[in-house]
Amino acid sequence: MRAHISIRRPEECCGCGACVNACAPGAITMQEDEAGFIYPAVDEALCVNCGRCVDVCVFTQKEEGANGAPQVYAAAVKDKSVLKDSSSGGIFTAIADAVLDKGGVVFGASWTDDLTVEHTGVSDRDGLAALRGSKYVQSSTGDTFSQVKKLLKDGRYVCYSGTPCQIAGLKAFLGAEYENLLTVDLVCHGVPSMKMLRDDLDFVSKGNVSGIRDIRFRDKQYGWGTRGSFLCGDSKVKYNAGTSAYYFYFLKGEVYRESCYHCRFPSEGRQGDITLGDYWGVREELISEMGGADPELGVSCVLVNTEKGKRWFSAIGNSVCVARTDRASVEKRNKQLTAHSTPLPEHSALLNGYIKTGYAAFRKGYKKHIKDHVIRTAKNMIPSRIKRKLSNILF
Ligand SMILES: Cc1cc2nc3c(=O)[nH]c(=O)nc-3n(C[C@H](O)[C@H](O)[C@H](O)COP(=O)(O)OP(=O)(O)OC[C@H]3O[C@@H](n4cnc5c(N)ncnc54)[C@H](O)[C@@H]3O)c2cc1C
Ligand code: SF4
Ligand code: SF4
Ligand code: SF4
Repeated sequence: MRAHISIRRPEECCGCGACVNACAPGAITMQEDEAGFIYPAVDEALCVNCGRCVDVCVFTQKEEGANGAPQVYAAAVKDKSVLKDSSSGGIFTAIADAVLDKGGVVFGASWTDDLTVEHTGVSDRDGLAALRGSKYVQSSTGDTFSQVKKLLKDGRYVCYSGTPCQIAGLKAFLGAEYENLLTVDLVCHGVPSMKMLRDDLDFVSKGNVSGIRDIRFRDKQYGWGTRGSFLCGDSKVKYNAGTSAYYFYFLKGEVYRESCYHCRFPSEGRQGDITLGDYWGVREELISEMGGADPELGVSCVLVNTEKGKRWFSAIGNSVCVARTDRASVEKRNKQLTAHSTPLPEHSALLNGYIKTGYAAFRKGYKKHIKDHVIRTAKNMIPSRIKRKLSNILF
């Protein structure tokens, strides 16, 4: 008889859902805590004390990351409409297309009708549109790990994309290498809770959440950056750090789940066969080498971590503009590749305030920070073309 999973400290659970998928009697469900972060809850009446949930937990079983030297690229898809709908260089779609073309299934984060973010699997290019674009909130993996296992055993190709902890959770749950599985992890600095996002959407839509459609955290109409939008009724509403307390605190790194402030994945090697992120500060000569890329629409940094990753990345060669680079130049402007986020001094007060008084605590703190935001916006107004020139001179 073995003990079931039990979370002693919040930083010891990233909410990946591997334990839920591993529990045959269905004794585990994910439940929101007071701040809306999801943690497993065990129904003692259903638990048969098999210990399987403990065996698959990424906090008890360490999944080795790829620690070797990855091949590193600057890349962007050639298809401009895909690029505009993607957060950075649209490489996720290029990889997903290659897997779909082989009859595979692609899993990623998607909005549901009631504006929750969940992982789901798609098997055609039309379905892929829902997975495109970053949703800056924790996505629930539901029963997708079990679906993946079944598909892999049936001999289908599967691409699973997500945060490094989700990929680690999937691999721990599977417990074996599958040649037909391709994993894609993201450079990740942390996730707030779905409850926080719901509260924020309620506020910014003036109580009309049900009228919200097409949320984009990164809307390329405003350039390649961190400015987004959503549709509400007939209007397009700007959604960014200047209009949303949630977005502001997300970018500042103030409202992540505790595991993000202790995230071990930046230092323990990448979890995916391929890692995707934004290639902030990409240099002018690299863009020339990419031939035909438009940096105003976004460039991805791509780390190809495994032999399997190399095979899939070479399969997308014709659909992308690409140039080889090195990890050090990507890391210069992307510190999430090497270190986890650190909570600022006001983190605890903000979180406790949110637990006690709800979204009002976000609004109260946010007003004080508007000055910071004005300065950042002013910097953002410098055209990226000029920023790249400056970075060529300075570095
Ligand atoms: C929470 C979060 C934090 C991030 N932080 C950074 C960062 O600090 N630095 C950086 O360089 N890049 C970061 N990224 C990655 C970046 O925003 C792009 O997602 C990435 O560069 C891929 O872009 P793309 O243009 O290739 O594809 P896109 O089409 O833009 O990306 C879609 C991919 O993102 C996945 N995805 C979207 N939302 C979620 C989610 N909530 N949880 C799990 N997977 C999701 C989808 O499944 C799909 O695989 C972050 C992404 C997320 C979701
Ligand atoms: S010990 Fe077994 S039955 Fe009990 S919660 Fe864990 S996986 Fe489920
Ligand atoms: S398996 Fe994932 S969700 Fe379950 S306890 Fe471990 S970290 Fe948390
Ligand atoms: S920062 Fe780490 S723990 Fe948090 S979502 Fe990203 S990978 Fe998971």
